[in-house]
Amino acid sequence: MEVTILGSGASLLSPDRVLSGLMIEIAGEPLIFDMGAGVLHRLSCSLVELTRIEHLFISHLHVDHCSDIVALVQSLWLMGYDKTLNVYGPKDILKMGEAIGEVFPYLIGKIKIKSHTISPEFQVKSKNWTVKAFPVNHGDFEAYGYHLEAEGKRIVYSGDTAPSENLVKAAKDADLLIHECSLPDRMKGMAPNHSTPGEVGKVAAEADVKTLVITHLYPELIEELGDALRSIRATFSGKIIVPRDTQIITL
Ligand SMILES: [Zn+2]
Ligand SMILES: [Zn+2]
Repeated sequence: MEVTILGSGASLLSPDRVLSGLMIEIAGEPLIFDMGAGVLHRLSCSLVELTRIEHLFISHLHVDHCSDIVALVQSLWLMGYDKTLNVYGPKDILKMGEAIGEVFPYLIGKIKIKSHTISPEFQVKSKNWTVKAFPVNHGDFEAYGYHLEAEGKRIVYSGDTAPSENLVKAAKDADLLIHECSLPDRMKGMAPNHSTPGEVGKVAAEADVKTLVITHLYPELIEELGDALRSIRATFSGKIIVPRDTQIITL
């Protein structure tokens, strides 16, 4: 099983990090989680055949996690996509589909899309994998994390969240935790609905995950990466990965 971090940046931009997105490939099947600006381009570098995509999971409807969906639909149409694209997300994912159709009516019917509303008990299974969603703590904005189980391994993706009890529960003893780590500890006040390195370290330690990947990195976090890692290390003793975009993590 391979995890490709497609986009590890955030809305204050870094030149070498696009917005949120990752891909998990299980027995050759690509599952995509989030689709922020730039992720489609990264995908074109990381996945030879984009038309293999059938499942796209959106953590929440902030623009930095979903704006490349429109571009994906257009590209798949031009590539002759003949499968059904299943898009999973919070309830307004249905409205988003309608709005895209209203603004870009020429896209209507060009590819088959099925929207699925997720809820706290959401789960979808295939022969090779199970994905569950759980609510996270992104202020009063509806937002979910995802838990994937495949090939005897467990991966949790936080989406955007401040420290979340639900996430700690879902990630207990997971092989890989991909957690947002937006701003340095000293800037917590500027982003109370996100997580700082100190908080991410505690979450990863409490969940006792094997490997932690930090993502959703603001430029200030990268500039102060040494401090950030020390802050995580204060509580978490497992492996820490600070990925570059398109980096592959093999499980
Ligand atoms: Zn957000
Ligand atoms: Zn975000």
